[in-house]
Amino acid sequence: MNNTLEQINALREELHQHNYYYYVLDRPIISDFDFDLKLKKLQALEDLHPEYFDENSPTQRVGGQITKNFETVTHQNRMYSLDNSYSKEDLLEWEKRNIKLLGTDKITYTCELKFDGASINLTYKNNQLERAVTRGDGFQGDNVTQNIKTIKSIPLKLKNSTDYSFEIRGEIILPIDGFNKMNLERIEAGEDPFMNPRNTASGSLKLQDSTEVAKRPLDCLLYQIIGDNLPYKTHFDNLQFAKKMGFKIPDSVKVAENLTEVFQFIDEWDQKRLTLPYETDGVVVKINSIDQQEELGYTAKSPRWAIAYKYKTEQVATRLLSVDYQVGRTGAITPVANLEPVPLGGTIVKRASLHNADQIEKLDLHLNDEVYVEKGGEIIPKIVGVNELSRNNEAQRVQYITHCPECQTALVRTEGDAKHFCPNEYGCPPQITGRIIHFISRKAMNIDGLGAETVELLFKNKLIYDFADLYDLKVAQLIPLERMAEKSAQNIADGLIKSKEIPFEKVLFAIGIRFVGETVSKKLAKHFKSMDYMMSASYDALITVDEIGDRIAQSIVEFSNNIANQQLINRLKSYGLQFEIKEDTSNKTSEKLKNLVFVVSGVFEKVSREELKQSIEQNGGKVGSSISSKTNYVVAGENMGPSKRTKAEDLKIPIISENDFFEMIQE
Ligand code: AMP
Ligand code: ZN
Repeated sequence: MNNTLEQINALREELHQHNYYYYVLDRPIISDFDFDLKLKKLQALEDLHPEYFDENSPTQRVGGQITKNFETVTHQNRMYSLDNSYSKEDLLEWEKRNIKLLGTDKITYTCELKFDGASINLTYKNNQLERAVTRGDGFQGDNVTQNIKTIKSIPLKLKNSTDYSFEIRGEIILPIDGFNKMNLERIEAGEDPFMNPRNTASGSLKLQDSTEVAKRPLDCLLYQIIGDNLPYKTHFDNLQFAKKMGFKIPDSVKVAENLTEVFQFIDEWDQKRLTLPYETDGVVVKINSIDQQEELGYTAKSPRWAIAYKYKTEQVATRLLSVDYQVGRTGAITPVANLEPVPLGGTIVKRASLHNADQIEKLDLHLNDEVYVEKGGEIIPKIVGVNELSRNNEAQRVQYITHCPECQTALVRTEGDAKHFCPNEYGCPPQITGRIIHFISRKAMNIDGLGAETVELLFKNKLIYDFADLYDLKVAQLIPLERMAEKSAQNIADGLIKSKEIPFEKVLFAIGIRFVGETVSKKLAKHFKSMDYMMSASYDALITVDEIGDRIAQSIVEFSNNIANQQLINRLKSYGLQFEIKEDTSNKTSEKLKNLVFVVSGVFEKVSREELKQSIEQNGGKVGSSISSKTNYVVAGENMGPSKRTKAEDLKIPIISENDFFEMIQE
């Protein structure tokens, strides 16, 4: 074994461990910064040594693979459903049947929460993740291994190796916080929010681009290990065995000596489950003895040895008073139900989301209906049903509006869009103010002193119609406004001046081109370097940019061709906003390396490879990509490739260390 490979393996081992501490135990022992440094170091070594590639290296977690068609895989052991029960009587019935079949009443149970996500089956070979397959129809599922690898709590390599062969099953979930955060970002980019965490989790598994999956904060909780010859004779002990191998087994699992203890577990978690960071919809009760499980076997659909107890989802009935229609900055219409206030899950609910016209139609909603409201992972509760029996004959069906409630323009709905839109982009007040409010928001231009209320006020007083108008405001115009002190007016003016330094990528996001969110703006800024280049790019040029798909490219082309937009950008330019990435000339420290060409190879101790290259350029030198007769120096770090070294030696090019280099520029 050679040195480099040992170093790579040691780093991989270490990073696997840190992933485990962070994502399984939720108890990191090094800082994110140090973790990133180590990961970068490993990535650099792997780049230099493709011969040591390992598909289960921690570097593989960022994704990058595209799966066009997911391979169908037959499950070695069928993935069954679970029978449901809704009352303690149902569970007593179930126990009675089992006692009869087993001929004994000595039965102990495990109690687990029922996680609401998508089930997955994992197989390991030589202690490494081999394959991850969805449940599918129970007999066959889809091979989604590349996507699953991006979920950091799933071990790519077992923590403690074992000779036992097994499959392990669990639930891929999307924690509620992560779900809400994703939705806020989608709304900010003008996209439709996702409906609920469960569908989003299962949809994520089937994304073609694993880089996209890597960005979603998915997690995996394991609940069943299957093998012919497992080390223990009870389900609970085998779960603890799985835990030792590095799997995330929830701490909520408990052994119950009898049904009374099962009932206690059910009662205990009825409310407590609502405080968990993810959604659960019941308890799964399993017979603990593997022998008894085998004896009982399966029905056509589900194991006889397990049963799900479903909690009644907390649901309340209340009355629908009216429906409001909100207009977003992109013109998207969102219907919102106004309800007779009612307590639910610790808060008073007055409003519920209705998503879109189809949903209203599906519910066949009438004014004054008695409606059932539930709270899930979504930010506001939703209406899940209607009591049609209590409706009186004259009740009026909720008619979806045909015209914008704010500007009376006829709404449009394009093929494939779930939502209606108000097309009056430049005349519809909430669209105008919405765009300005987005522009000044923290993640965009972050203008101190200016908030949504002030924007509304300025608009109402006819002082602004678009965000460029902000830069024309005079302090003297602000002071007469309601509740505006001289100091706050000056604050706003200062904030606006300061915002002229905000970098291009944020300005691009602030402008609010549909589907161009924070991340996309960064990509675009990095690629095109200036607004002019981006706006003159063709659809074909746009679509070649990393992460830019059809929809985004289309939207940018539309934006760029619009004369009003071109004028708006020109105005902003005239006020001095940043529309290109500034080449940082202030950093140019010397001309010491003028006319010298450097090639950089290996891993460095004090700086990253990128930083070293920057230092070369800042001192007037050039960075070459390969060694040739034109190269003046090779700066070599640890583990420089042997072929490069030979080549440099053959051409008699001096090989210097990073220390030599820094001395060179300090002289
Ligand atoms: P159902 O889809 O209603 O038939 O319920 C069966 C599904 O519940 C399984 O396929 C799992 O995805 C899911 N599930 C969630 N938590 C558990 C658990 N603790 N034990 C077994 N299955 C679970
Ligand atoms: Zn309108």
